[in-house]
Amino acid sequence: MTRPSPLDTALGYAARGVPVLPLRGKLPLLPAAHQPGDPLYQQCRGQCGKQGHGVHDATLDLDQLRAWWQRWPRANVGLRCGIGFDVIDVDGEQGRHSLQRLLAEHGGGVPIGGPRVRTGSGGWHLYVAPTGLPDQIGVLPSVDYRAADRYVVAPPSRHPSTGQRYQWVPGRELDAPLGEIPAALRERLTLRQPDRQPAPVLTVRPAEPDHPYGRAVLEAETAHIAGARGPGQGRSGERNQVLWEAARNLYNLVAGGVLDEATVAGELERAADACGLLGDEPRQTQRTLASARQVGMAHPRGIPQRPASRVRGHARPNADASHHPPFHPDRDPDRARER
Ligand SMILES: [Zn+2]
Repeated sequence: MTRPSPLDTALGYAARGVPVLPLRGKLPLLPAAHQPGDPLYQQCRGQCGKQGHGVHDATLDLDQLRAWWQRWPRANVGLRCGIGFDVIDVDGEQGRHSLQRLLAEHGGGVPIGGPRVRTGSGGWHLYVAPTGLPDQIGVLPSVDYRAADRYVVAPPSRHPSTGQRYQWVPGRELDAPLGEIPAALRERLTLRQPDRQPAPVLTVRPAEPDHPYGRAVLEAETAHIAGARGPGQGRSGERNQVLWEAARNLYNLVAGGVLDEATVAGELERAADACGLLGDEPRQTQRTLASARQVGMAHPRGIPQRPASRVRGHARPNADASHHPPFHPDRDPDRARER
């Protein structure tokens, strides 16, 4: 029995109304249209007319799909979630246990049903009717929820580490009626929804730089950079993005008077050296740092103001236009997450 080619499979998904994008491993294959420092970085969803916007490249255009897979015949197949379906992404036995526990405790044991994929890493993708709820990594231990603006790796893709194919469970192909999200899981996704839009944080400017809050952020951000992985160590190109986001966060604090600029510049260089980036790509690294400094300095951020504390003296409240949680730099929403 011959297996349909990735192209034929991709065309089949699109013909059923599921937007498709080509992947390399689990990541979008098309190079990103916008890099850190570009004003459209993380803002543009394809309005510029170019390709390279992650899940937003996903299309129903059969000619486009033919062109992509003629160019990259072995590309993996990504399916956009949130339109035709959402996906409960169950990671291995641990994920299966946490989902089963939730269903046993709250679900009355009702099966979820619907199309189902055995992933190339020994997990499961459960296709359920779209809910309009946002995606959530770790909605349960080892269980993610993939919805609008996310995608899943679909059959006949191969897992990048194991080499195993993603396969539809026999009789549970995409034609099967969609499953229903368990009420208990829907409740968890709904409860956590406000987390996604944190209220703006009021910050204050300290009297002098080198504030303990700033030092703690500096330590965490530089440790993050130093631990970032380079090409061939997981997500390639991660180091540059980690460096840019960390540097931007730190220069926000320099502009807000929390940290000393020379200290930050020196520590960033040391961390970029520690992860190998400075040695591998010295010029790109300096450009990244310069761009992050420019963006960061334009948006001063002070120390977070405790609700009960009062602002005195020279300190002034500083509504923060560009707050990014320093310990959890935002990931590029276009580089949709997959594990
Ligand atoms: Zn664009």
